[in-house]
Amino acid sequence: MLLITCPVTRTDELVADRRIRSVVNHLTHIAMHVECPACGGAHVYRTGAKLDPVPAPAPQAKELVAA
Ligand SMILES: [Zn+2]
Repeated sequence: MLLITCPVTRTDELVADRRIRSVVNHLTHIAMHVECPACGGAHVYRTGAKLDPVPAPAPQAKELVAA
């Protein structure tokens, strides 16, 4: 789940993970394309600014190490 603010209705909406259409990695941020339950449209939210110069290992790599 994640909390978004719809720019159309200006309400805060709890959104299920399955409503995340795509996640695009950019150099300065991550763009999340989310289906909005409030207005039915799709919004793009930026998250995950890269403040750490050393990239964290991918989740899949962590799982392989733990297995
Ligand atoms: Zn919306």
